[in-house]
Amino acid sequence: MQKIQNYINGGMHAPLSGQYLDNINPSTGEVYSLIPDSDERDVALATEAAEAAFPEWSAMPKEKRSRLLMKLSDMILKNLDRFAMAETVDQGKPLWLSKTVDIPRAVANFHFYATAALHTHTESHSMEDTALNYTLRTPVGVAGCISPWNLPLYLFTWKIAPALAAGCTVVAKPSEITPMTAYLLSELCIEIGFPKGVLNIVHGLGPKVGMAIVSHPKIPAISFTGGTKTGEIIARTAAPMFKKLSLELGGKNPNIIFADADFEKAVHTSVRSSFSNQGEICLCGSRIFVERSIYEKFKVAFVEETKKLKVGDPLQEESWIGAIASKGHKEKILSYIQLAKEEGGKIICGGNEVNPGGACKNGYFIEPTVIEGLAFDCRTNQEEIFGPVVTLMPFDTEEEVLKYANSTNYGLAATLWTQNLSRTHRMSAKIQSGIIWVNCWLLRDLRTPFGGMKGSGVGREGGFEALNFFTEERNVCIRL
Ligand code: NAD
Repeated sequence: MQKIQNYINGGMHAPLSGQYLDNINPSTGEVYSLIPDSDERDVALATEAAEAAFPEWSAMPKEKRSRLLMKLSDMILKNLDRFAMAETVDQGKPLWLSKTVDIPRAVANFHFYATAALHTHTESHSMEDTALNYTLRTPVGVAGCISPWNLPLYLFTWKIAPALAAGCTVVAKPSEITPMTAYLLSELCIEIGFPKGVLNIVHGLGPKVGMAIVSHPKIPAISFTGGTKTGEIIARTAAPMFKKLSLELGGKNPNIIFADADFEKAVHTSVRSSFSNQGEICLCGSRIFVERSIYEKFKVAFVEETKKLKVGDPLQEESWIGAIASKGHKEKILSYIQLAKEEGGKIICGGNEVNPGGACKNGYFIEPTVIEGLAFDCRTNQEEIFGPVVTLMPFDTEEEVLKYANSTNYGLAATLWTQNLSRTHRMSAKIQSGIIWVNCWLLRDLRTPFGGMKGSGVGREGGFEALNFFTEERNVCIRL
């Protein structure tokens, strides 16, 4: 059976513990590879290597750094099919999705930051004849990057690309549930002769490897994407060490549909924004609020289109919904469907596990599920489920739907469907959310600030914000 290895100081290494964890293919329920069960000793080695590589990498002309990152981007693109297959087997998402979204986005992340690094600038503040201030930005040192399992390579590269482009060296940890594409990336690094120690990838469990990264005194910046509870633990550990922290956390996103919306588009895109990637995207709209005058019409059309989504083997082209990423997560989602029933919700579509049979007979599959009849403030409508489960609720006024939308502890992404321009501006300024999509969903320009308010996180990724996060600023004041 294939054994994944840690990538430290330019080479592949077994974990010092000698222990491995099972890596499960969620569409079959079978163990198909082994992951290093690393600990703080492996993180210490990786950090030493990253520290040693830092002076040369940070001093390298940015054109040269940029070329190396472009090479990684090109190599992932060249191996797109292999990466896409690995992502699907590891994560459970449909192969067509890995091919058209996840892996192309990893390619774009490296490409984007390889070129962004060439266009950085800093400010200067003139005090007329007295003095000139200028801002000096230098890479912060060794950056710690920790990513989740829902968009494995996509989010892993979304962190390490800006960190490397800014001139930091990196100790990174992908999720233990989906380590494979990060491992393939380390193979590519070796193949192209990526400078040793600049990127180090340590595999293993969050409380062991992740926590060792977060608490390592020589890692001054932590970029984390994952659950809000984990974010809390990380903040509690890193804050007293005065580390830089970027936290991209959970969401419970409102999808608000006004009666004047383009009906067909609102229905069609809402099906996508509810169930893409099995609903396992932090940006999925899981609470759908529909203006009362079109509630019944919307419900019928939405359920009809949802029922057409085929759940099944992620390797088959006609499967629109693949496997849930892990058994534990499948059980969590089912427990929320049960909770919704106990809270008085009515399941109007789905609600059950699916057994696609054949090779997938022991996999983890759930029908796309639509629930109505719940209060906006019940647990089902307040807690993140992170699966193919949405609720439908009617509303009468803007004020009412704003209250519903802003009622959770989260504030990551909101979707608004209306043709009314004034309302668009009014609502966008009042919805507590880091991202507001109007008449669209998941339309991304990598230059824009990305991140959440309240329990959805601290700081913003994307564009120059991410590059700046990995730098330290100094003001230099020169008396003239
Ligand atoms: P998670 O918090 O369980 O794990 C994320 C990563 O943190 C994994 O690599 C894990 O091993 C590591 N980790 C776990 N415990 C740790 C600890 N004590 N110290 C350090 N590291 C630790 O999250 P998950 O279940 O992998 O991902 C799903 C969550 O991620 C959802 O809440 C989702 O909304 C969120 N998410 C947010 C965004 C965003 O951009 N805001 C994007 C994707 C996913």
